[in-house]
Amino acid sequence: MTKPVDLDPDDWDAFRAESHRALDLMIDYLRGLRERPVWVPPSDEAKARFDRDLPREGRELSAVLADFDRYIKPFATGNIHPMFMGWVQGAGTPVGMIAEMLAAGMNSNCGGRNHIAIDVERQIAKWMAQAFGFPQDASGIFVTGASMANFLSLLVARDQAYGDKDVRLNGLCAREGQLIAYASREAHNCVRQAMELAGLGARHLRLIPSDGNRRMKISALRHAISADRAAGFRPFLIVGTAGTVDTGAVDPLDRLADVAHSEDMWFHVDGAFGALAALSPALKPLVKGLERADSIAFDFHKWLHVPYDAGFFLVRDKDAHRRAFAANAAYLSRAPRGLAAGDTWPCDLGPDLSRGFRALKAWMTIETFGTKKLSECIEQCCRMAKRLEGWIAKSDAFVMRAPVALNIVCFGVKEDDDGSLAREIVMELHERGEAAPSLTILDGVPAIRAAIINHRTHEEDIDAFTIFLDAALRRARKEPHDFGALVEPHGPGKTRLSED
Ligand SMILES: *Cc1c(COP(=O)(O)O)cnc(C)c1O
Repeated sequence: MTKPVDLDPDDWDAFRAESHRALDLMIDYLRGLRERPVWVPPSDEAKARFDRDLPREGRELSAVLADFDRYIKPFATGNIHPMFMGWVQGAGTPVGMIAEMLAAGMNSNCGGRNHIAIDVERQIAKWMAQAFGFPQDASGIFVTGASMANFLSLLVARDQAYGDKDVRLNGLCAREGQLIAYASREAHNCVRQAMELAGLGARHLRLIPSDGNRRMKISALRHAISADRAAGFRPFLIVGTAGTVDTGAVDPLDRLADVAHSEDMWFHVDGAFGALAALSPALKPLVKGLERADSIAFDFHKWLHVPYDAGFFLVRDKDAHRRAFAANAAYLSRAPRGLAAGDTWPCDLGPDLSRGFRALKAWMTIETFGTKKLSECIEQCCRMAKRLEGWIAKSDAFVMRAPVALNIVCFGVKEDDDGSLAREIVMELHERGEAAPSLTILDGVPAIRAAIINHRTHEEDIDAFTIFLDAALRRARKEPHDFGALVEPHGPGKTRLSED
């Protein structure tokens, strides 16, 4: 007789002890964050560890955890560190870490069916509808990220434009009239990619010029729409951005809603991080008009620090949302009672069938901190951006490259026309593990971009950042320097400061 086999521990008590050690390891890791460099490149030894043959035999969990500790944990992206300002990345929270463990323990499949995880996800949709001023029966689902949510918005808007399920059956070639979408020049590239993926073609996305504050120009938008209509095209979608990825600019959403309304077009807002400013009473006016969108894409994993990944797609008209994705597969048929009960399942609202319990980590984050504390962290980021801007404005060497709308500061070095010093500074800061801003290109010139999104980034970190910047610039210019005297650690257990 074959011995029964399963994947549970042989010794649950030993497993418990090992698991508690793993938990302690990660709590120590989070607690000691500031003492470590922002980023360390993966060592050759670590890389070699992940270039082995597929194992036939397993090992003790303790040995595998030791490998995690040695080869994986030290070489993270760094986005949880207070000195990380690169790109736009959330910082996570210890609460989110626990939520991930609980969700993994349940291992719920949230494609559908009659279990509580689906209600938790619906709760999140209702909460966000409330936060953004959408109707309470708005429809929403978790997706990987705003890129996916923006893509889904395009599919819903496309089907809505054609007014039936015809495209789902017959494809686009059977339709008359090329659909045209509009977004500002500052829009995230995933909007362009969504046009490609949806089969509409990137060339049918009009990138509308922006003004001096990098907000979409309404006159140019109106002009483009009428020119397209005159040429026989079908304008169908306006994508406004709440918080552009480069500079944090917010399009004039109210006026975009007016245009969409008068032109009978779908109005979608890419609010990946910026939409969440709506949680702050002080910042909410900046995203005025969001409440008029037909759909919103945003990320819990950015400004709400829910662990990756946790994008969300919210649609005002639940029927339009369902029409774009729902199907009738025999193995997914609904029952009046039992586990297969329920009307709309998440799998009716997007292309994913099997999906994890992302709602738990969002729910636990919001329940634990409340929107008050979460929005205070958002406001703090904007204050830190102003602090950095203030320093740059007074600096002899550095210069602002774009206005600060929310939390992103783009700046460069004076008389560094090709941006070579900016580039050098950013790479230096990364390699020394001091800070992690990123680079972007503004008006053809590389700019240093500090996207301050981390709840852990405080005044002392911004001040340390300015010192690191000065030092990195001197090194980039190969000027003699002695920063040992200038740099004072700003408190025990704080960010590591360089000594050279
Ligand atoms: C980050 C971002 C995206 C992409 O979101 P992902 O979650 O990375 O897919 C889209 N638009 C804007 C404005 C962003 O900041």
